[in-house]
Amino acid sequence: NNKEWQAAYSVIEQLENAGFEAVVVGGAVRDAILGRPAHDVDVATNAMPEEVKSVFNHTVDVGIQHGTVLVIVPAGPVEVTTYRTDGDYIDHRRPEEVQFVRSLKEDLQRRDFTMNAIAMRRDGTFIDYYGGRQDIEAGVIRAVGNAQRRFTEDALRMLRAVRFSAQLGFVIESETLAAMQIKAADISWIAKERIKAELDKLWIGKDVFNGIQKLEESGLAAYLNGHFQANHWREFNVQDKLLGWAYFALLQGEQWREVLGSYRLSNKEMAFVKAVLAALEALKNGWTNMDYFLYAQQELEVACYFAELRQLDVQMPQQSIQEIQTKLPIRHKQALLVNGTDLLKWSGKKGGPWVKEALQAMLEAVVNGELQNDRQAIKNWIAHDYFNKE
Ligand code: ATP
Ligand code: MG
Repeated sequence: NNKEWQAAYSVIEQLENAGFEAVVVGGAVRDAILGRPAHDVDVATNAMPEEVKSVFNHTVDVGIQHGTVLVIVPAGPVEVTTYRTDGDYIDHRRPEEVQFVRSLKEDLQRRDFTMNAIAMRRDGTFIDYYGGRQDIEAGVIRAVGNAQRRFTEDALRMLRAVRFSAQLGFVIESETLAAMQIKAADISWIAKERIKAELDKLWIGKDVFNGIQKLEESGLAAYLNGHFQANHWREFNVQDKLLGWAYFALLQGEQWREVLGSYRLSNKEMAFVKAVLAALEALKNGWTNMDYFLYAQQELEVACYFAELRQLDVQMPQQSIQEIQTKLPIRHKQALLVNGTDLLKWSGKKGGPWVKEALQAMLEAVVNGELQNDRQAIKNWIAHDYFNKE
């Protein structure tokens, strides 16, 4: 069907022609059964990494110590991973060392959930030792094997279960959920960056409310930084990572900076969240031209959306934000036709904090339409209106 599947099929065909066994595994198989578009179509094979490399002209070693080789075929790149079992688990994280094996069954056994442990051959038939298809049909997330043992091996799997429940709207099977309740504290072992990556995917989910509910029910929420309260997420349905973090920040109150900082958000992400929260704060006092000037359209729209979700007493704009912004006298500070050097020259005064203050007052007057953005007009305004007011 699509390009990524074509690429994977072509890789499998060539591995088979060379005498190896190869199948599609993981998320792509699950998503195909669900009728969801696939992003990464991963191939697993009984060929050793060196053997994979010998079959193809163009390969890149992306994770050869874990058995993964990126194979480039005309239809695109495909990740090919040798069947493996995980070695010993240290510190409740996935092992650094893996053992390559020749049996697909062993490879599927190390995978987290039954829905992620299905393989598919090139002819479209499935290899499904753990009842994955049945669980997908029923909308159930179920650990492969003994749930408690699997979460002891790798605590991140618990958060993956939560994130899949948001992504797919599935329930967590009762023994799996019970194991999470027992092992929840182990999530503290997991690096904040990896937790952030799962929360990124949770916010994008179609059923964030379900995910946060599972976070509470499993007890995981108590071991993560910040407040996670499902009832605040009931109406949240924008499937956007940044909006997820911004809304989460809003629910943290004064502590939002510390909480989000602990998840190692990038500076860019933090800046967006900060702008949305500031815009929302400004809107509580009514809309001014300065608000339209200071904040981007998206930030203001998000602030409106949050005001609606939280049922805040905020007046909504009468026209579209974009329309109002296009009509502003100027759109950026740089568009002011007068700068600090002009002010010093005109006044004959020495520099000081007053320059910045005068520029700010000038900016506000121009943005509010009380002053024309014209050098002569501003010069007069500074001499007569501004300094006389002081
Ligand atoms: P997504 O749609 O988010 O990519 P995915 O199922 O493909 O979901 P990946 O993180 O891409 O998730 O992992 C690919 C596959 O590797 C999974 O389907 C699962 O079989 C296996 N896997 C990934 N992480 C783990 C883990 N922590 N423990 C066990 N198996 C895992
Ligand atoms: Mg994937």
